[in-house]
Amino acid sequence: MTERLYLEDSMRFSCEAVVTDCVPHGAQYRIALDRSVFFPNKGGQPCDVGTIGDAVVLSCDEEGERLWHLCDRPIAVGTPVTVKIDAERRFDIMQQHTGEHLLSWCAWTLLGATNVGFHCALDYATLDLDKPVSHEQVLEIERLANREAAKNGAVTAQEYASEADLQASGVVLRKHAEGLTAPIRVVSIEGSDACTCCAPHVRRTGEIGQLKIVGELPYKGGARLTFLCGMRALMHAQRMQDAVDAIALRFSTARENAVSAVERQAGELSDAKKERNQAYAALDDITAKTLFAEAETVRGTAVIVALLEGVDGKRLRAIAQKTLGPKSLTVLLSAAGDTVYYVLSGQNCKPDMGELCKAVNLLLCGKGGGRGTLAQGSAPKKNDLTDELAHLRQYCRQIV
Ligand SMILES: [Zn+2]
Repeated sequence: MTERLYLEDSMRFSCEAVVTDCVPHGAQYRIALDRSVFFPNKGGQPCDVGTIGDAVVLSCDEEGERLWHLCDRPIAVGTPVTVKIDAERRFDIMQQHTGEHLLSWCAWTLLGATNVGFHCALDYATLDLDKPVSHEQVLEIERLANREAAKNGAVTAQEYASEADLQASGVVLRKHAEGLTAPIRVVSIEGSDACTCCAPHVRRTGEIGQLKIVGELPYKGGARLTFLCGMRALMHAQRMQDAVDAIALRFSTARENAVSAVERQAGELSDAKKERNQAYAALDDITAKTLFAEAETVRGTAVIVALLEGVDGKRLRAIAQKTLGPKSLTVLLSAAGDTVYYVLSGQNCKPDMGELCKAVNLLLCGKGGGRGTLAQGSAPKKNDLTDELAHLRQYCRQIV
C-alpha cells in the first residue's frame, strides 16, 4: 500500500519516502514507495510527473492500493529517497479540475444539467453535460462560475467511513460517483458545490483564476464544453487579442471595428466574384464561338483541338460543351497555375471520350477519365505544349 499524501495536502509537492518495490518494465522500471505525493492517471486527468531521487518519473498509475511510478532507472528496494513532483503542472491541473467542479455546479444550479464526463489534457479540459445548452446559457454558466470563484470559498475534503455516515451528515451532493468503496471522500466548495472526488484540488476558489468556456458542441444528446482556467485562460485571451489586433491592423481600424471591417470586405469580395463570373461567362461564350467558327471538318465531323490560357477545369468544361455541333469532337487544354487541365467532349462522333482520355493521360503524364461523350483530367504544367498539341490534332483527325 502507498500512503497518498495528496489526499491530505494538495499543495505538498515533495516528501521523503522509502522504495518498497522496483521491477523492470520494458526499457524502464516501475517503482513503488511507502508514501508518495504523486497523483496517478485517474478520473480523466493526467498524472503528476517529477523525480524520485535521481530517477525521472515519466508516469504514475495505481494498482489497487499501490502507486507504481514509471521511472527511467532502477532504485534498490529499501533506499530512502526524496520524491518531487512538477509543482507547476500539478497546480495547473488542480485549477482545471476545481474549475470543473464549479462549472458543473453552475450548470446544475442554473439548468439542472448533470456532469456526465470530464477530461483534462495538458492544454484544454472538457466537461460533458446531459442536457443541450444554448450559447446564452453557456455565457450564464461562465458568468456565475467566475462570480463564485471570486468569493474565494474554501475547497475542503471530508472522508466518511460509510455510506450511512455520509447520509447522516446531511450533505447534499451534486454528484455521487457509482461503486465507491469506503471511506467516501466528499469535496466541498464553501457556499456551493459538494460531490464525491478522489483528486487533489486548489485550497480556495480564488486560486482557480479566471474560468473561460472556449468551446460548446452538441454531444450524445447533451453538450460538451471546452474550458480553460487560470494561466490557460489568460494565455488564450492573449492569443485571441493578438489575432484580433492582427486583423484590425490589416484593415487599419480599431479592434472593436475588426468584425464589421471583415464583413464589409467579405461582401465586396462576393460582389466582385459575381461580376468576375459574369465577365468570364461572356468571355467564354466568345471563345467558344470563335473555336467553333475555326473548327476543321474531317469526314463530316467538326474537330477542335486548342490550348487556352488561365482557364480552370470548370470553365474549360463549359467552353467545350458550348463548342459542340451536330457532329463534333472538341479537345481543349488550358494552362492555369501549376496545372494543365484538359476536357474532351464529343457529339455523334466515333471515339469514346474515356478511351481518348487514356491517350491524353499518357501524352501529358496526367490523370483523368470519363466515358461516352465527356472526359476530363489534369496534368502538371509544362512550359511548351506545342508538340503535344500538334500530336493531339493529328491523332484526332485520324480517329474521327
Ligand atoms: Zn475533484
